[in-house]
Amino acid sequence: MEKIDITMLSLEELEEALIDMKEPKFRAKQIFIWLHQKLADDFDKMTNISKELRERLKEKFKIRKIEILDKLISEDGTTKYIFKLEDGLIIESVLMKYSYGNAVCISSQVGCRMGCKFCASTLDGLERNLFASEMLMQIYKIQEDSKERVRSIVLMGSGEPFDNFDNFLKFIELINHKDGLNIGQRHITVSTCGIVPKIYELADKQMQINLALSLHAPTDEKRKSIMPIANKYSLKEIVQACKYFAQKTKRRVTYEYALISSVNDTKEDIENITKLLKHSLAHINLIPVNDVKERNYIKSSKEHIREFSNALSNNGIETTVRRELGSDINAACGQLRRRYKY
Ligand code: SAH
Repeated sequence: MEKIDITMLSLEELEEALIDMKEPKFRAKQIFIWLHQKLADDFDKMTNISKELRERLKEKFKIRKIEILDKLISEDGTTKYIFKLEDGLIIESVLMKYSYGNAVCISSQVGCRMGCKFCASTLDGLERNLFASEMLMQIYKIQEDSKERVRSIVLMGSGEPFDNFDNFLKFIELINHKDGLNIGQRHITVSTCGIVPKIYELADKQMQINLALSLHAPTDEKRKSIMPIANKYSLKEIVQACKYFAQKTKRRVTYEYALISSVNDTKEDIENITKLLKHSLAHINLIPVNDVKERNYIKSSKEHIREFSNALSNNGIETTVRRELGSDINAACGQLRRRYKY
């Protein structure tokens, strides 16, 4: 019989399993704390659990293996972690150090099937979804390795979190659990290319997590030319869903916009962004696109990004420009993983 991935179980599920094993319920909480707070990656590290019970646990459950294969450290402290999963697949995560604390950017899938033209994660398509446990363990391993507490999380690594929605929800429940790392929902940001029904579903859950929407073009026509998902959902539907999210959660939505020279950084784009977002509780985050050598996209110049940002601010759209961290170890989103694969 296939062993159960114990790191993915909620406390209630773990309690049920322990009761089935004729063990007292409180054991479940002890084990849960070992897994999610003390970050034990082996049953034998659970020293307040008897050897006999640990052996029985090993028969029924497994702790999925995820190991640090490599680590690239930037001068600014940003660290890229390359992880090897149990089945040999490779994913990457990034630790970013800010004055207010450490943030980790995690992957939600191995590869991605969304097909955005400027994104490296999608070049080989989707290999598989990550289990909620593998999403958690990226953070657990980084916290352990860096010996510093992780304060916030962004789901902006490889993959589309809303294309792996159940694992994503499970992940949120566990990372936010008071007997786990207890990372506050307000410190978690999920980024999506715009899978509209899932935006509504998440809004209705009334959680306090932040939503980032990958906009990248302000008209459907232009968006379709760089993001295939635009063929499925129009900007009108997306902005409506984001407004609903903002209204339900009282959280401002961030729109991400990667500036690609002469593709989406013209005067006309400024006008169209303004029309699109003028009356939303929104904020636009301008990102200098990371060049992807497989595609022919070049980032807009620093001066041009500043002008673009000022023009939007003058039009009443709140704007920030994303600082480029770790540019000396760069190999933009999803690019490192490919290098390790071949
Ligand atoms: N699939 C989700 C989350 C992963 S991508 C999404 O689409 O939002 C995280 C962010 O990185 C997205 O905004 C994505 O559009 C952006 N991104 C992808 N490739 C990029 C590149 N080459 N340069 C800058 N940003 C990029």
